[in-house]
This record gives sequence, C-alpha cells and structure tokens, in this order.
Amino acid sequence: METGGSLPHATRKPTLTPKAIIHQKYGNKASYKVEEVEEPAQNGCPGLAILQKGPCLYRCTLELPEFSVTSESFKKKKDAEQSAAQMALDKLGIRPSADNPTAEEAWTDLIARIEYIFSNEFLSALHPLSGHLKAALGRVGDLNGSVPASVIAICDGKPNNLCKIINPKMDSQPFLVISYIMRAATRLPELVVGPEGQLSIRRKNPYPPDLIESILSQESGVAENVTTMAIYIPCSTEKPVEPVILNISSSSYYLDVIAQKLGLSDANKVLISRTIGKASSETRFYLAAPKSFPIDIPSDHLNDKALKFGEPLNARASYICGQNIYGDSILASIGYTWKSQDLFHEDVTLQSYYRMVISKIPSGLYKLSREAILAAELPLTFTTRTNWKGSFPREILCSFCRQHRLLEPVFSISTIPTKASSELSRSSKKLKVSESADQDTEYADGDDTVYAGAKSVGLASSFSCEVKLYSKSQDLILVCAPNVLYKKQNDAVQNASLKVLSWLNAYFKDTDMPLEKLKQLASVFDINFYPQNFIKEVVSCLSVNSFQHSETFGGKPESNGNNILNGVVEDAESSIDTEGLDSGVCPSNGSLLCVCYSVSLVTKDKLQKELLESAEEFEFEIGTGAVITSMEAIGSQMSVGQSACFHTELPPQDLVLAAAKDSPSALALLSSPCCLEYSIILLRLTEPPEDRMEQALFSPPLSKQRVEYAVQHIKDSCATSLVDFGCGSGSLLESLLDYPTSLETIVGVDISQKSLSRAAKVLHSKLTMNSDPDAPSRGIKSAVLYDGSITDFDSRLCGFDLGTCLEVIEHMEEEQACMFGDVVLSSFRPRVLIVSTPNYEYNVILQGSNITSQEDDPEEKVQSQSCKFRNHDHKFEWTREQFNHWASNLAVRHNYTVKFSGVGGSADVEPGFASQIAVFRRVVLPEEENLQEHKDLECKYNVIWKWNRSNPALTD
Ligand code: SAH
Ligand code: MG
Repeated sequence: METGGSLPHATRKPTLTPKAIIHQKYGNKASYKVEEVEEPAQNGCPGLAILQKGPCLYRCTLELPEFSVTSESFKKKKDAEQSAAQMALDKLGIRPSADNPTAEEAWTDLIARIEYIFSNEFLSALHPLSGHLKAALGRVGDLNGSVPASVIAICDGKPNNLCKIINPKMDSQPFLVISYIMRAATRLPELVVGPEGQLSIRRKNPYPPDLIESILSQESGVAENVTTMAIYIPCSTEKPVEPVILNISSSSYYLDVIAQKLGLSDANKVLISRTIGKASSETRFYLAAPKSFPIDIPSDHLNDKALKFGEPLNARASYICGQNIYGDSILASIGYTWKSQDLFHEDVTLQSYYRMVISKIPSGLYKLSREAILAAELPLTFTTRTNWKGSFPREILCSFCRQHRLLEPVFSISTIPTKASSELSRSSKKLKVSESADQDTEYADGDDTVYAGAKSVGLASSFSCEVKLYSKSQDLILVCAPNVLYKKQNDAVQNASLKVLSWLNAYFKDTDMPLEKLKQLASVFDINFYPQNFIKEVVSCLSVNSFQHSETFGGKPESNGNNILNGVVEDAESSIDTEGLDSGVCPSNGSLLCVCYSVSLVTKDKLQKELLESAEEFEFEIGTGAVITSMEAIGSQMSVGQSACFHTELPPQDLVLAAAKDSPSALALLSSPCCLEYSIILLRLTEPPEDRMEQALFSPPLSKQRVEYAVQHIKDSCATSLVDFGCGSGSLLESLLDYPTSLETIVGVDISQKSLSRAAKVLHSKLTMNSDPDAPSRGIKSAVLYDGSITDFDSRLCGFDLGTCLEVIEHMEEEQACMFGDVVLSSFRPRVLIVSTPNYEYNVILQGSNITSQEDDPEEKVQSQSCKFRNHDHKFEWTREQFNHWASNLAVRHNYTVKFSGVGGSADVEPGFASQIAVFRRVVLPEEENLQEHKDLECKYNVIWKWNRSNPALTD
C-alpha cells in the first residue's frame, strides 16, 4: 500500500495525558466539575443500594467552549477527569501522540474516517461537519451533495492529526491536509471524488430517503436568510481592506456565497484557514485554492512550495492568521458549530479586523484589555497589584502565546527561605505552578505596606520566578529568570511576565532590529533566548515580505516636546475644585490618577471631528508608562478638577481604526491631514505611600539605608543595648537580627497597638526559629516591646547604649517632638541617640516634580515651598535649617554633642540628604555615673511582648 512514505518519528515527545492536551489547547477555558455519584445497586434491587453503600464514586463533567462531556463513574477523581478529557479529545478527533501509530496505521484510520463522515450515521450527528453535509444536499446542479474537501480539513480534527502522523512537516503547510483527504477518498469506491481537479467529495449512493426526511423535520422551522458582514483583504497592500456583506439566502450554501465574493464559481475552489482569536471562534480566512491542487505529492517534495499558489502571499492576512494566505482573502466569522444545527454567524467589522491586527503584540493586547487603544500603553513596571489596571502581565503573556501558537508559558517559582529559617531547608524549593491553577486567592492584597521590590528581609519566604516559552513542538524559545526576590509569589510571577512582554514588545516595535541589539535588550530584561527557535516561531509569522509592520507600529503616538507645548493646560470654566488642592502641586511617581478623557480625530483645520475613544473614569499610575507619554506628562502637571486639551500627531492608522467605532467615517476623515485631540479632566488623585516613593528613587531603599546606618553606629559604639523609639511594626529591630552585632538587649516602644502586634509576631518567630548557632542574631539575650508614648518617661529604658528614633518625630506635633527630645536626653540619657526625619527640601525630587531649578529665580523658593508632605500622617516636615535648630538647642540643653548626616542623596549636593539624621552623643559628667540608681522606679509603659533566650517559653 502506498503510504506517503515517511516513517513515523522514532523519538516522539513525552507522553501527555488527555488533561494536559486539553490544557494546552484551552488553558483555563476548560473547566472540570467533579461530582460524587451513588452507584446504583447492581442486583436490580434498589432498596439494597442504601444498605450496601459502596465506596464513593466520581463523575466529571468537562466544559469546553464548544461543548461539554461527562465521564463514567470512577473511584478516583483524577481518573474521572482524565476520562472526561479523553472523551473530549475523541470528540475533537485529537489523538494523543503517545499512541505512536505508524504512518501506515494513520492512513488506514484516515480512510476509515472519511468513510465514516459519509455514513448515514454521521449525517444526523451534531457535528460542525454534518452541517456542511446537509447544506451540500441543497446545492444545485453538478454541485448537489458535493462537499468541499477544505471543509473536512477544518471541521474535523481527526484528519489533521492523522496527517501529522503521516507527515510531521504538515504543520508548515496546513492546506496539504486536503490533498491527503482527497487521496484517502480515492481509495473508497463508494465515494465519488468530484470531477477532475475538484477539491470535493460526494457520496455515490444517495442517503436513504427516510433519513433525509427525519433530518429535514429536525430543522428548526424555516431556515432564515442570513446577512453578515465580513472583511475583504486584497492581496496587494496598496488596496484598502474593506467590509463586504454576505447575503446568504435560506436555500444557498454559505461557502458558495463566499466563493463568489472571491470571484470563484463555487465553494469547491475555496480554501479555509484555521480559526483566529479565541478558542470558540469561527473566524477564518477564505481564499482561492491553487488552480491545480496537487493530490499526489511525493512525500519528499512536501515543502512550502508543494502548493503552487499562483498568487503572491497576502501579507496582511498571513500576519493575522499566522498561516500563509495567498491572494485576495475574506475574513468572516461564520460556520456550523457543535452547539446547534443552525448556521452561526457574527459580523466582522473593520474595527474588529484592526483589533485583531493590534492584538498580535503585547502592547496591543494590553490596550485592548483596557479598552483604551489611544490612551493606554503597556506599562514598563509592575509596582503593585492594586495599581496595575487592565489584564495582568501573566494573562497577557498567556494570550500572546495562544495568539502565536506557542505552548502556555511555564512558570517556575523558587521559594527562598530567609536566613532566619535557612536551617529548615537549605536548598530552594522548586515548584511548578501550572497556569490553570489560579493562584490569585493566595496573592490577595492583605498588607498594603508590602510592595514589589527586591526586598528579601522578612520572615516570610521570598519568591523568584522563572518563565519559559516553548513552541508547539516543545522547543525552548526563551527563558526569563530575573534574579530578584519578591515577598509575594504573585509579584514575582507578574514581574517576570512583564519582562518577557516588554522585550517582545520592543522587538515588535522595531522588527528590523539587528540580532545583536535584540540580544543586548534581552540581557537587560534577564532573558536568554534561542534565536533559531524565536525566529522560527515568532519572527517567521511576521516575515511576510511586503507588509511593513514596523512602519505601522513605528512608535508611540507623538510625544515630543513640541506637541506637549502645543497642548494648552487650562482651567475648566466650571471648576469643581472642591478639595481645594494646591495648584502647581503635581502628582508624583506612584500616584494613581483618575481622569475622564476623550480622544477625537480632527482635521488639521479643526473643521471636522470624529470621536474615537472615551472613558468616564480611567485610572493610571504615574511613572510606569501606563499611558501615552503626552497624557502622562500633562496629567502629572494638573491638579484635581482641572481640565486640559492637547493634540498629538496621528498614531499608526491601525490604532486609530481599532479604536474607531465608525471606521468608515474615520477612514473618510483620514483622507485629509488629521491629528488627535485629547481632552482630559483630572478627577482624583491617590498618592503613593511614602515607602514606595522612596523605593522608586533609592537603591537600596531608604529604609534599608537607615538600618545600615544604625548598624554602623552599633558597631562603632560596641553597643550591647538598643531602644527603638517609635519602632512601628519593628522593621529596624527585625532587620538588625540579620546582622552580626554586639547587641544583647533590644527594646521597642510605640503607641500603635496594631504595629506592635505585628512587630511582636515578626520578632517572635525570627528569634525563636533561629536556633542556628551561626545565626547573626545569636547574641541577642532579650527583647521587649512596650506600648507607650515616647514623650513619657519609663525608668526601664534608662541608660541604654543606643537609642534610635527613625522617621517618628514628624508624626507628632512640633511641641511633642520637642518634649520627646527633652525626655530622652534628660531622663533616658542613652550614650548615643540617632534621630532621623524627612528633609522637606528633598521632596521636590522625591515627588518627581517638574519644577525647574533656576538658581536666581525668587519664584523657586516659593514653588518648592508648596510641595506636599511625604505621608498624610506627617504633622510637619522640616528643612535642614529647622532640624538643625531643634537638634542643636536640645544638645546644648542636655549636655550632648550633635552631628548631622543623612541617607539618600549627599550632604554636599543640593538639596542635601533625603532623610536627615542627627547623632547625639552624651558628654559624661562625673556626677552622672550612678544616675540610674537615683531615679525612682517609674513604669508608664505596658509590656506587649517579651522574649528571653534562656527561657523562650516565658514570652507573651
Ligand atoms: N521607626 C519606624 C516607624 C516609623 S512610623 C520605621 O522607621 O519604620 C512612625 C511611628 O511613630 C508610628 O509607628 C507611630 O505609631 C509612632 N509614634 C508616633 N507618635 C508616637 C509617640 N508619641 N510615641 C510612640 N510612638 C509614636
Ligand atoms: Mg514618617
């Protein structure tokens, strides 16, 4: 028997379970529901069933977008699931590669399948293909009963899979399935292949009349005439893409109608592409088959040129399809489905066509997810889950892979225990996170103080994530392994996904980029890619010659200075300035802006205008690049209630048309010189937390720098006892445990019960879990947390070696801060006291304000005075002068020396340090030696938590 020659692959891919195959195909669109079932008694006596209650059985229903199946009952849940998945695969005609059938067997199966398709039984089945079989019976003349072979190739999965076994190269030339189907049909004497060269199959013997009758009676009433919109994509990119109307009368076959629009006599000359877009989509490309379709191709000639399309490649259609389309083409969403006997159809508008075009690249997917094609941009950073709007990076990456026919991305999470618990598990655990298992519940935002960032300090494990992309044939395309730790697993996953997306996006924005540059860029994003596989899988879908994609997506909408200057920021006439926000105060990095905006296409003479896009409420985070640059630049100069209007050069036409609800009228406008007009009103402004602001600007974060500053002083002074005034949730005390120091006693005081209980939790587990003799915190003998106001005296804190009071005084009224200073230096009298507080003058920089510093401009001082405080809880923020004044007076009054320093920035560069620090040192007086003993015992503070190394069980 002639088999088409090639032997099956000796080395097949690793065996995939039915569930895994379903997952590859549907991702989380496949939903499994397992239910317990009571097995009915076997002996026909229903009453006994209750008495003989056997083991519980499970049945699984698998719902796919097209249909659902329910398994038999099984003892194990997973068997029920696998069985349901297998049933679905059978129904889809997908055969797991594990079976390893030979090419010969595949041929036999293919012939049997064709035979089955033309059986009486199949005609009445609910199958997309049986819809065509029935419709073919209504075709007139020579065409009566003739079924286009292309329909068999697309509606039934089985021939496709069998052909892949016969010839593994099939994937690169999917239309060749037709030639195998035709050859299989010639081997079935009861079937008739259409007249010479016709790509159709007809049954020789008519169906039994009673079968026809019963089918006709099934039909739901009178078939209706169908009118649907499709898109005509000419082969020549010179010619515009245009809508076409398909009028399908109840008596005609829809494929014949499409054929006529393509200038062909009938559907037997039409080829059909695979589906585009979502899993349940019926959207496909239709094109003319080559004049002479080779039915007998010697297998070693099976390459891209085997099909001699007379027409050139249709670049636009091929780009969207990811499969080569030749000649003029029609894009339509129409066909028979698993769900109903009726013809399904949906309009494909110009807008939906352009949305398909832009959805091929990450930024397009992001824009679509926000429904903000002309305003949104794929952000460059993922800061927090709450600030990210639109689809999350992980989702976008999954969609991208589906779009480009890659496997679902594989995420590997590494859990790295912190030093404190390192003895529990020395090696980092690797666990694979399956994409379908939704981790989101675990990532719920609980702690708003936790932010994305390389912060490994903390008791909880830290996470890092590695992403891998594979081709359908399981070739590795890229690995992204950022060497950054996140407190939350979700942050690690999202950040790694975003890196991959950003790199891909950079590539799509400049597809002509030389390989060297692409490699360089990859290393910036912690990516290692395999150029050959990348080119084969991602680039080749673009390498369609004449379609200059890079031109179309040449860049962001114009954002150069001129355009921004052209934009006039003006007060709204009816200002709704209820909040009375200072104008001139700008939103800073990390602020969340909420705007109302609209974008219109206007002719340069401003006479004609067409609304393209608008949103009543649209939120974006400043500083992440989440919107087009002009919008961010102007938005961040506005205050709440203000409105602004600006113009930009026209972005690529694809974007304009993807946004336009009425594409024809937008197109009409585009024939004259146009620009885009943006109007925005700033509705709300949510400021970022102080720590995120600091995080954005300093590396390591300012909080870490403060800790390190304190550690240095502990070392220098050989301190054995430390009290942290206003310890908050214990970040300093906790971090100190990571450093080897001379400390033996650590104490924290705060008035916030909530913060203290957090501090207690963290310190407790870190101290008790750490039994490692080499642990840096081994020297600590006792730790106490007190609830109390640091303006009150408590004799238990007298005479400590070191006192710290970091970023606390600004949370008190100024007079309280003075009181604290007096109490500490007069009564507690630590040898050294370190006080830090924000330097107000530095806010200009922190808040990313655009106020230009002009040395001799008297206005400058005034403007910088209007900066906001870093945190809404701050009662004051001092300039360097104000801080110096406070600290110097204190020092003089209480016999201390004081030196000034800081972290973040530098003393010599204006405006000084971000966090200013005063270090007070006690000047020891002779009469002071026994000071502590003279003090009366005065216990104002309440012990919240206490820990002792000698007896850790005694802790509260
Ligand atoms: N020092 C910590 C926390 C700074 S936030 C850190 O650097 O992370 C300021 C803290 O000061 C808050 O926890 C607040 O509860 C505390 N605080 C404010 N007034 C206080 C007072 N009178 N007595 C004690 N703590 C006070
Ligand atoms: Mg503060």
